[in-house]
Amino acid sequence: MTDQDCIFCRIARGDLGTEFVHQSDAVVAFDDAAPAAPVHVLVVPRRHLASVADFGAGDSGLLAEIVEVANQVARNRGIDATGYRLLTNHGADAGQTVHHLHFHLLGGAELGPLA
Ligand code: AMP
Ligand code: ZN
Repeated sequence: MTDQDCIFCRIARGDLGTEFVHQSDAVVAFDDAAPAAPVHVLVVPRRHLASVADFGAGDSGLLAEIVEVANQVARNRGIDATGYRLLTNHGADAGQTVHHLHFHLLGGAELGPLA
């Protein structure tokens, strides 16, 4: 897949006019188009990685930034005290549908069991 075909590469470049709740050199965050919880934000590296399985030894800083961004967005959305879930899907059994790495930040209501 080229960056032209990838929906999250296009969003990260600003091609679709998406409103970012966070943006930095390496990471953007925006509301999920089909929210599964009252707060459902996607935290996405600008660089195209197909999934968390593409993380390499040199990517620990990126992973740390993604977690920091998720924590910051959770505070901004007022769900830090009530709780939230941060998850990423890799591959078919996990139900990954967008093949550009993204972490789901979910909260604002009791989320129930994972599976
Ligand atoms: P996953 O199943 O982990 O690959 O999650 C993909 C997520 O991306 C789903 O929750 C979709 O609702 C969301 N999504 C797909 N396209 C867009 C888009 N253009 N803008 C915002 N969220 C999107
Ligand atoms: Zn991409």
